Amino acid sequence: MRKSLVAGNWKMNGSNGTVDQLASGIVKNQADMTCDVVLCPVFVHLDRVSGIIDGSSVELGAQNCSDKTSGAFTGEVSVEMLKESGCKYVILGHSERRTLFSEQDSDVRNKLSLALESGLMPILCVGETLEERELGNAEEVVQRQLLAALSDLDLSLESVIVAYEPVWAIGTGLTATPEQAQAIHSFIRSVLGELSEELAQKVRILYGGSVKPGNAQEIFGQPDIDGGLIGGAALNVDDFIAICQAAG
Ligand code: PEP
Repeated sequence: MRKSLVAGNWKMNGSNGTVDQLASGIVKNQADMTCDVVLCPVFVHLDRVSGIIDGSSVELGAQNCSDKTSGAFTGEVSVEMLKESGCKYVILGHSERRTLFSEQDSDVRNKLSLALESGLMPILCVGETLEERELGNAEEVVQRQLLAALSDLDLSLESVIVAYEPVWAIGTGLTATPEQAQAIHSFIRSVLGELSEELAQKVRILYGGSVKPGNAQEIFGQPDIDGGLIGGAALNVDDFIAICQAAG
């Protein structure tokens, strides 16, 4: 039985004050949430969110990490620094990183290896653009992204979370239908099964793309959907809690 997980990707939003309110509002309601809950603020807010969630069941994640361990890499943040700031998770290969910051499959792979080596749990994002879907290439794209990141890893797949995020559904208000999402989630599990059948059944696969309180229950009700990666709706305490409850 896979435990559901809901991660809030706060992206480049918030101030010290709003981040404090958001994190403490979520912690206050933790008793109502039975899924794993992860908050992913920007790097400079990690320490303060870590302080607010300390002692609660809510956990911390980062939105990215460097593919280097240390040295002259201005502006980068290493996996060890993230761990020191209290992170247990790190989002990798988000479509905004791939498209706006030109991250390649090989960059995502290097970051994922470093995250696993350090004991951080990667949330590996995969997903096709609208054009790729319309050309009938959604599965091919997702398979390429998965295998580029995960093939021939020495480390256990069990420590990886996959997030299927169709690019056309992120921040657009468009959502994959539960059936469309389930079809790709089941495909992802079958690709993981080629790496390890036993572990494929254990890996949690999250859905992301305009999840809201009104559609969460139907999406999370699909057999291969184990929770969500939430953007816009994670910035509102009530909406985020309602989504977590739908996942629980
Ligand atoms: C995301 O950016 O990971 C995401 C799912 O965003 P939204 O929920 O706003 O579509």
